[in-house]
Amino acid sequence: MSKKMTRSERKAAFLKEAEHLFDNMETWYEQNPTATFEEIEGQLRPQRRALMGEGIKRWVNGGEEGEAEPVLCPECGTKMRYKGTVAKTIIGLEGDTTLERGYYTCPNSCEGTAFFPSGQEVATTT
Ligand SMILES: [Zn+2]
Repeated sequence: MSKKMTRSERKAAFLKEAEHLFDNMETWYEQNPTATFEEIEGQLRPQRRALMGEGIKRWVNGGEEGEAEPVLCPECGTKMRYKGTVAKTIIGLEGDTTLERGYYTCPNSCEGTAFFPSGQEVATTT
């Protein structure tokens, strides 16, 4: 997923997925009219997380091409070298997302590496 999307393309993709989620829930609730609040939540949550995960992925990975801010070495402050992208799965509060992030190393051979956008893997599944 490295194709760059425009804002309207991202919006269309998000709305299409949201519509799909809505239809899934409508159909499920028709078939389960006596579902408890917890059952409805249990049905909705993974779909909501998937929807938001896809949305975040597009915001992070699908932005329009542009000259990114230089990434500076946290140890020596030198502009770091772009080494390509790596896929990284982020377990986030709103959804699980596989991000394609730029990977950078310092030309002065500092130990640190950097990723952009930065972020930590959070083992929360709320
Ligand atoms: Zn450095």
